[in-house]
Parts: sequence; structure tokens; C-alpha cells
Amino acid sequence: MAGVYVSALEMFSIGIGPSSSHTVGPMRAGADFARELDALTAASPEARPDRIRCRLHGSLAATGIGHGTPDAVIAGLRGFAPESCDPADVHGQWARLAAGGSVAAAGVQLVRDDFDFEPFARQHGHPNALTLLAWQGEDLLCSITYLSVGGGFIERAGGLPQPAAATRAVSCYHTARELLEECGGDRSIADLALADEVALHGRDRAIAGLDAIWSAMRSCIDSGMSATGVLPGGLGVRRRAQAMATQVAGNGPAAHADDQLTLYALAVNEENAAGGRVVTAPTNGAAGVLPAVLNHHVVSTGASMAEVRAFLLTAAAIGSIVKANASISGAEAGCQGEVGSACAMAAAALCAVRGGSVAQVENAAEIAMEHHLGLTCDPVGGLVQIPCIERNAVAASTAQTAARIALLGDGTHVVSLDTVIETMRQTGQDMSSRYKETSEGGLAINVVEC
Ligand code: SF4
Repeated sequence: MAGVYVSALEMFSIGIGPSSSHTVGPMRAGADFARELDALTAASPEARPDRIRCRLHGSLAATGIGHGTPDAVIAGLRGFAPESCDPADVHGQWARLAAGGSVAAAGVQLVRDDFDFEPFARQHGHPNALTLLAWQGEDLLCSITYLSVGGGFIERAGGLPQPAAATRAVSCYHTARELLEECGGDRSIADLALADEVALHGRDRAIAGLDAIWSAMRSCIDSGMSATGVLPGGLGVRRRAQAMATQVAGNGPAAHADDQLTLYALAVNEENAAGGRVVTAPTNGAAGVLPAVLNHHVVSTGASMAEVRAFLLTAAAIGSIVKANASISGAEAGCQGEVGSACAMAAAALCAVRGGSVAQVENAAEIAMEHHLGLTCDPVGGLVQIPCIERNAVAASTAQTAARIALLGDGTHVVSLDTVIETMRQTGQDMSSRYKETSEGGLAINVVEC
């Protein structure tokens, strides 16, 4: 039976902010629907839609405006892809519709009334669903409901064929215990993951893809460190990474060793909140943890590209197990699923490149996730800013601590990573929907917006 490994090239997809489930996924859904309409018209030239409607359900409706979901759907329908689009081409289209204008997409003119927001409707039992419908006159030509399942991944609901049939990985593990067994005594998790990547993409494409991911992560840090101003959305949140970098530089020897780590995470998440180019790791909301930890490791040790690839591969393997057995989506499991997963992935990867055994790597991931259990998602104003930006910096520090604790041990521990992942799944299931990316509870309702 095929295993659960998700390619690092998909787990870390290069896209735009501010949200993987609310921006990247919906853009992919829009693009998939546009391709479906093209295929329909190619098969029956008379079947040309004259109207397209988009129904946003659940969390996509509740916080979709703040996350840029309508802009993302429009961009997808216009043929843009998250990995190659210019963010400037994506943002602002919804505002144009809201002001009474129209936008050409997939052969029709979209207007404001083509979008419906249904925050209390769940489709196929999922909190993040959207339905796209195309008509010709009174005739419904096509209707597809998409589930945005976190990390920018989408699925077609209702048993429809999925957008792309992925090639299977060669590894067979479904759990962390099976991953360790498959590594045996002599293979690292990164080695196993690389074999999967080569099977999925071929060696050259796999290596080039990993290097491109790292390049995009570094660019995101650089962009975030050089930007100033106030983040969009109306909360008045200032970008702080650049000013803090100046402050840290001025502190000289008095600067704390972890200050740079904090700055890297803030830079990425501010860039994400601004809708800039960002890499899901494993989501946009949690995109700062892993690049911060990796960049800090590279800068402080001069790590090679081989180490960078091993870091990304190890993290992808751990993230795959979490995704398969619990969730990496805030709308499904709360922030424990997003930032908790990112922290576990970063801790495991750091432990691995610092020479940890596979048992120590599993231990590092377990420690990191255990201390995020129960963490809720309650973004103020439906924006990926408060508490998200600082939360990534804190989680980056936790990842380092978890890796350190694991490396000081011998890999033996009482609670397994599989147990913590299952606990996260159960906790997410029990969690009120108010704390799962709906902005109906927690900080989202206690912070007064001015
Ligand atoms: S609180 Fe966590 S899960 Fe929710 S949007 Fe922010 S980072 Fe994502």
C-alpha cells in the first residue's frame, strides 16, 4: 500500500499571502475550474458559459475577505497560478467588484453579485469549501465544489476525479513508528524522502525544486527585512522586522543570540500578511517558523546546500505524517494544526541536520508538537496578523528548544510522536468551531478594532 509522503515540492509550495487555505487553495480551485470550462468548450464549442458564480462556504466566507479569498478565486479563473503570479496582479480585484465594476475571467465578466458568502454552511462536512458554477443562460454547464484542506492543497468534493493524479512515492510508511522502521538502522529520514522525491520527479527536478524553495524562502526573509509601513486590512499593525533589525544591530554584543531567529520569522509573516511572495511551510499562516530556523542554522553554521535539502526533506516527511493522521489546517484543527505542525517539522529537521539519530528526530518533533496541543486559531479581524506573526517567532524558538532537548537525550521517551499527532487530531475535533479560523472567538472578539 502506498505511503503518506507528500513531496516537499508540494508541501513547500511557492505562492502568495496571506493564507494557504484561504488564498492559495482558492486560487488553485479557480484555475482548475477555468481548465474544466476550457475542456468543456473544446469538447462542445457551443457550450460557452456566460456567467460564473462563486459560493464561499464556512470559514472561507467568515474570514475570506480578510484573507483575500475572492481575489484569489478571480485570479485563478483568470489563469494565474500561485507559484508564478505577480501578487500585484491578484490583489484589488474584489475591491473593484465591490465598487460596482467588473473583471473579465474565464470568458465572462464577473460582478459583485456573482459571489455569495455563506459562513454558516458546511459543504461535505468541511469547514473550507467553495463551489464554482458556470451557466449558459438558464442552463447549468458545470458545478464543482472544492475543499481547501490546508497548505494550499485542494480536493474536489463528492468523489469527483481530483485535479491532478500524483505519481506515487516509493516509501510505505503511514505513521512515525513505521517511518522509523523503514529507516532501519542505517538510513536517515532525509535519505528516505529523497528516494521518494526522485521517484516522483526525477533527481534533477527534485534537487532544483528543493533549491528553488530555499531560494524563495530566503527572498521572502530579505523582502520582509527591508519593508516598512502598515500592513493592509485596517488593524494598523506596523511592520517591525526592519526597525527591530536596526535595533538588534545597535545592541552589539548585548544582543540576544536568538534575536536574529525572531527577526527572520517576523519578516516572513509580515511579508505574508502583506500578500507578498511566500512559501507554505506547511501553511502560509505558519510560514515563518521553518525558514527562520533553517536560515538561523545556515547563517550561524555556514551549512551546505546538502544540509539545507536534508532539512527540507526531513520536515516534509514529518509534515506528511501529521497531514495524513491529523491536520495541517487551522480551519480543521485550530492553530495547533498550523503553527504546531510547523514547529514539529522545524524541530525534527534541525535535530536531523545537527546530527540527531532518527529516534532523536522523532523525539524533537514530538516535543515541539506536544507543547502546542490545544492552541486555538482566533485571528483578529480575520487577518493573518494577530496573533499569527508573533506566534511564528515564538514557535521558531520552541523548535530550537525541542531540538536541543532531543539532542541532549538518547531518543528514548515516554510519549510517541504518533500519540501526540492523534491527540492533536482528537483535540481539533473537540475544539469549538469558534476557534478554527472563523474569528468568532478568542482574541478575535476580545480585541476592539479601531
Ligand atoms: S492563529 Fe494560527 S491557524 Fe489561525 S490564521 Fe493565525 S497562524 Fe493560522
